[in-house]
Amino acid sequence: MKNIVIFGAPGSGKGTQSALLVEKYRLKHISTGDVLRAEIKAGTELGRTAKEYIDNGQLIPDGLMIDILAGVYDGLCPCEGVIFDGFPRTIPQAEALKRMLEERGTSISGMLELDVPDEMLMERLINRGKTSGRADDNEETIGKRLNVYKSQTAPLIDWYEKEGLRHAVKGYGSLEEINAALCAVIDRL
Ligand code: ATP
Ligand code: MG
Repeated sequence: MKNIVIFGAPGSGKGTQSALLVEKYRLKHISTGDVLRAEIKAGTELGRTAKEYIDNGQLIPDGLMIDILAGVYDGLCPCEGVIFDGFPRTIPQAEALKRMLEERGTSISGMLELDVPDEMLMERLINRGKTSGRADDNEETIGKRLNVYKSQTAPLIDWYEKEGLRHAVKGYGSLEEINAALCAVIDRL
């Protein structure tokens, strides 16, 4: 059983690479961003709450996000393993994920970090905004998201390093190259 956290800044390619990995390794994919966007689309109360934070480039509060994650996880598992994409994004979320998996008799096998230079992130997200239809893919909100990433999410790099789970991979080049680098790590886990 392999539970993997795919980690990186907004626009680092977590979603794209997750799609390739779930297919190859037969894992479940939990993208918290996708879960929240589905709630927004369905017009639920949760969706309305989430939209305010997302459109503002902010994170959904930890308590709420942790409950959502546990619900989605229990809807999909027990299973072969999961790719967590976009979760955790804060240290309390990482601690909650660890505890949640422990309670279910499993754990994270590895955290795969996609490293992409800042200028490239901005360029990718602005480009994505032209076709994604995402209200948060505009220059102002992207700037906020990158700052939130630096202050609230990047500290997880050290957190996972201390857990002995961090594996950094070059997150630019061709999709195939990046995928091969991720697979090389996963095959060793
Ligand atoms: P990527 O481009 O690498 O897929 P992203 O930052 O563009 O990453 P999502 O992961 O889809 O996009 O997340 C979109 C938004 O949803 C975030 O900016 C945040 O507001 C909210 N969100 C998603 N996951 C979490 C989380 N774990 N905790 C809090 N908020 C979250
Ligand atoms: Mg995504």
